[in-house]
Amino acid sequence: MDDLSRFCCLNSDCPEYGKRGAGNLTVTSRYGPDKQRRMLRCRTCKARFSERKGTPLFGSHLDPETVGSILGHVAEGCGVRQAGRLCKVNRGTVGRLSRIAGRHARDLHDELVALSPPDPRGPVR
Ligand SMILES: [Zn+2]
Repeated sequence: MDDLSRFCCLNSDCPEYGKRGAGNLTVTSRYGPDKQRRMLRCRTCKARFSERKGTPLFGSHLDPETVGSILGHVAEGCGVRQAGRLCKVNRGTVGRLSRIAGRHARDLHDELVALSPPDPRGPVR
């Protein structure tokens, strides 16, 4: 079973637009290397979109680990050149990713601050 609770409809005309875990999304197909990427469909407005649309991964040929590593370096205060050197990517790539991620982060800020990333030490009490 696919966990789609972190996704939402990306059609701004749809009543379910931006609502995560509304139960309106289904997986219609898989694509890409090893069929790891999912095409999602909104039952409400019938829109289809890639699960990567709207994320820094969309349209990127880098694997998620590399993107995560690049953004991790930037988040820790590395400059664009330094992060590029450490992750062995062009600094233009670092700049592009951080711009997209920054926009994305701003858009989702209110939601993400209420959601803690998984922590192996367990929930904070
Ligand atoms: Zn929709």
